[in-house]
Amino acid sequence: MRNEVWVYVDHFNGEALPASWEVMGAARTVAMALEVGVAAIVLGHQVKELVMEAFSFGADEVIVCDDETLADCRVEACAALLTQLARDGNPAVLLAPATTRGRDVTAVTSVNLESGVVADGIAVVVENGVVQVIRPVYAGKLHSTVAAPHVRPQLITLRPRAFPKPEPLIDRSGEITRVAPVLAEDDIRVKVIDYDTDDGQISLTDASIIVSGGRGVGGPDGFEPLMELAKTLGGATGSSRAAVDAGWIPYSYQVGQTGKTVSPDLYIACGISGAIQHQAGMRTSKVIVAINQDPEAPIFKLAKYGVVGDLFEVVPALTREFETRLR
Ligand code: FAD
Repeated sequence: MRNEVWVYVDHFNGEALPASWEVMGAARTVAMALEVGVAAIVLGHQVKELVMEAFSFGADEVIVCDDETLADCRVEACAALLTQLARDGNPAVLLAPATTRGRDVTAVTSVNLESGVVADGIAVVVENGVVQVIRPVYAGKLHSTVAAPHVRPQLITLRPRAFPKPEPLIDRSGEITRVAPVLAEDDIRVKVIDYDTDDGQISLTDASIIVSGGRGVGGPDGFEPLMELAKTLGGATGSSRAAVDAGWIPYSYQVGQTGKTVSPDLYIACGISGAIQHQAGMRTSKVIVAINQDPEAPIFKLAKYGVVGDLFEVVPALTREFETRLR
């Protein structure tokens, strides 16, 4: 059986992003419908464990390049190699998580292949052998179904947390295909000098619970009660653009059209009006709770649960209650 469905495994220093395995789960479903196998593409340095992990999450084959030039997952090096692999292997579908690196690598690969990417899918179905991707458009107000049946490979990115992560099967293994890099160090223009550590909060795109604040928090200190609630719930803190533009919180916290796209199980919007550009980044959250003083705020139309009130009273009360109940 040919391994016609490929999964680009996004990782940092050999640690896979959860979204990579979510994509693997979706890939298995697609492969089953097409009656083909799944190959994982692992590009990096010292990625032996990642190869085994890829098998455990559902790969039948792992195509791996373990080389120092791929240590920092630089897009030039990874896309050049992925392009060559795609040309040589000619898979039907190449899936990647819609993470920052996943989007980068697929975009450059699609240019190299003179193709395109169906970006940010939230569901994939196979009908009569044709892979169809459902993706949000118009800031999430509509869902479009997209297929590119005459394109090979079909490049598709899938939104993190839109697909369940499969349970790993520890004893699973398969064929390992080792390949050489395409670019030598001298051919790669970007050099990674250093990394800045973040403040240690859970990655927004991976978080299952997000407590977000907007202009209603009134200033940088206004985020403190939100961060406490997020910590109590084991979640992350997010923000609207208004609070970022005001300099109250760094851009890395911004959710929305020009920020991050998130799909947590629970999104608590505090002092956020719910502008269309904010909704674009969070409307696929499973349960949305809005806390806002203004009963007419648009966020209430989207929210499953709404509290009309002052966030500085409601949020600390919620934190106290959760602390008691989750103890
Ligand atoms: P506001 O709209 O000012 O809402 C503040 C809310 O807080 C109000 O509803 C008010 O009733 C409530 N409030 C005030 N005090 C309290 C209190 N004590 N307790 C409870 N509630 C209170 N926005 C994003 O968020 N993300 C993006 O990525 C983004 N991208 C954009 C891209 C473009 C091209 C453009 C044009 C805009 C973009 N925006 C984005 C901006 C967006 O249009 C809104 O301006 C922004 O989302 C508003 O942020 P906000 O809801 O925090 O502020």
